[in-house]
Amino acid sequence: MGDERSGRFAALDSAAVNQDGFLREEHAAGLVTMSSPADPEPSLKVEGGRVVELDARPEAEFDVIDEFVARHGIDLAVATEAMALEPVQIARMLVDINVPREEVVRIGRGLTPAALARAVALLRPAEMVLALTKMRSRRTPSNQAHVTNRLDDPLLIAADAATAVAFGFRELETTVPVLGDAPCNALAMLIGSQVAAAGALTQCSIEESQELLLGLRGLTTYAETISLYGTEQVFVDGDDTPFSKAFLASAYASRGLKLRVTSGAGAEVLMGAAEGCSMLYLEARCVKLAWAIGAQGVQNGAIEGINIAGSLPRGMAEAVAENLMVMMCGLESCSGNDTLMSQSDIRRTAHIMPIFLAGSDFLFSGFGSVTAYDNMFGPSNFNGDDLDDYLVLQRDWGVDGGLRPVAEEGLLEVRRRAATAVRDVLHHLGLASFDDARVEAVVAAHGSKDLEELDPQIVLDAAQGIVERPVTAVEVVAALAATGHAAEAERVMGMLRQRLLGTYLQTAAVLDEEMNVLSARTDPNDYRGPGTGYGLSPARQAEVDGIRQARTREDLLGEFGRPLDGVAFRELGDAAPGTDPREVAVGVSPSFGAEINWTLSGQSVWEALRQVLAGIEEEECVGRVLKVRHTIDVGLIGLTAARLAGSGVGIGLQAKGTALIHRRDLPPLANLELLSVAPVITAEMYRTVGQNAARHVKGAPLKPLRNPYTEETIGARYHASTVGLVAIERSASQPGAAPVDLEVVR
Ligand code: CA
Repeated sequence: MGDERSGRFAALDSAAVNQDGFLREEHAAGLVTMSSPADPEPSLKVEGGRVVELDARPEAEFDVIDEFVARHGIDLAVATEAMALEPVQIARMLVDINVPREEVVRIGRGLTPAALARAVALLRPAEMVLALTKMRSRRTPSNQAHVTNRLDDPLLIAADAATAVAFGFRELETTVPVLGDAPCNALAMLIGSQVAAAGALTQCSIEESQELLLGLRGLTTYAETISLYGTEQVFVDGDDTPFSKAFLASAYASRGLKLRVTSGAGAEVLMGAAEGCSMLYLEARCVKLAWAIGAQGVQNGAIEGINIAGSLPRGMAEAVAENLMVMMCGLESCSGNDTLMSQSDIRRTAHIMPIFLAGSDFLFSGFGSVTAYDNMFGPSNFNGDDLDDYLVLQRDWGVDGGLRPVAEEGLLEVRRRAATAVRDVLHHLGLASFDDARVEAVVAAHGSKDLEELDPQIVLDAAQGIVERPVTAVEVVAALAATGHAAEAERVMGMLRQRLLGTYLQTAAVLDEEMNVLSARTDPNDYRGPGTGYGLSPARQAEVDGIRQARTREDLLGEFGRPLDGVAFRELGDAAPGTDPREVAVGVSPSFGAEINWTLSGQSVWEALRQVLAGIEEEECVGRVLKVRHTIDVGLIGLTAARLAGSGVGIGLQAKGTALIHRRDLPPLANLELLSVAPVITAEMYRTVGQNAARHVKGAPLKPLRNPYTEETIGARYHASTVGLVAIERSASQPGAAPVDLEVVR
């Protein structure tokens, strides 16, 4: 590039999206999303009930993934029928509302990885949204949160877990910056998760054997950290095989812990072992492995690899296609939207939209319910500071994103209960002591930066005590009961009861707040086109609609009618035509200084009027104030004033602040100067309006009157108010009434 720069490009360079990295496709390195020349042709040969060829590879050349998928990952009862279908036929089944979900799942389980990938790759984005709507396992959508903090402060974990549940999350996961702290985090999370409502599932994402141990002791209720990969080399590098992963998965499930596996684009590329294949094909292998090892669900949609997929063409579509393949195998989808995928708010929001609109078993596999800096998984694509945006998006689209508005006062209460319960349990068990001041600081805190540093040894000692004693969920229940937290004791006990019942091990299971299991069995997705499937109940609709920012028109209007201090307006008799050639008439609107005392810019109507009159006076003209009662149109108000002004020049001034200059000989819409954007009009601009009206009278050169620079969303911010203010003007207006002179009484 030479020295010459385009101002436009220089500005674009500083756009947030240009902090993201973008790569060109490179097949050999696996830097390709939807399909690669190295992806095998779909094929399946079965001899005597045994798979002898899978995706163009004969049995003798199977790697460990092929082997596992061939033996356990393909439903041979339907495989011949399924593999005889063209990819486009399968793609059409996905969007055909006349083909039920169960039928697609039946076929999906008979497909090889290459066949599965090839079918979903044919869908356009809008078709994927429809397919997701139909194919997710559970009818009722749900959402998962990350609950962590940089200090591993157990009281803050508990308060934030309670907060997440209050907002509606049904699965919460924590992790640790310091591995040794994990048992303490898990315990705090278990208690905190049961404060605002019953039944949220929790996990603590750490090293596999320790995570399993926490689960066995009842301190967690689900796990999703078992990672699967699409090439053998990555398994080997991790000293693992699909067999070891299957064994671990069974260990969780056999002890009543809900289990899903994690996979997703990018892992193989990052390990330099993608074998030149597309991300989608490698993920299809993972999905088939997941079904083969008996996992009920998959967390995918690129997850941490989203930044690799996102750097490439069609990366966002690939992430969604991953979720869809999971659904096609009848598994639970925990649908990504997890790792922060862009510095650009526009781009990271666009990323969530397909899943957001379609719904999923879990729309986010990790919405950062805490503030981003406290998210020890790394910032999520949406974080605690985005909660209001998310709630507004739900309301905008009328979709159930799994969350609900929360009142500030109620939230402080659940945070206090959670922090107190954990403090009391830790104290009762002799694990740690925290004073009331710490509890109160945690209740109010937005994040750990609002708290004093915590001696790391306190948490480590507590965690070690939990391991060594050992403290199980039963001791937690007893400690809660002994310290006066009966409701939480009962709810934690309820979670243990669920583990014995085991119904929440069913595919896509969550517990609702009444402890009912909602799963693919008890709450199957029955979408079959318009009028079917999940829809918001009237109660849920009201919840989604009831964001805390929504106000009635009356609330808004109360503000604009606030009384004025030290000034009043008195209506005199009917206004007669003026005779003074220097007279400029200022016509004000029907509710000016009566029902409406404050303009949209926040200035009082008197301030606006005072500036206009001062401007007229500065130019050696005479101001006169009239109330125009028969119309609310600022043009007609100005024209009416002009016709009554001795000079023939008038000003129209609406109570909301809009102003213009008019002349008696002009048509109503052809005013001389107009300030139409009331919220951005300054006192100085009102003064200029007065000055220029007078200069029109004198025939003097005009002062420039320009709208100020603004990038504000004037419409979004003021439209609701404007609608209300116009309605007030309308009801204050009196058709046919003559203008009256208005006296300013100070
Ligand atoms: Ca997750």
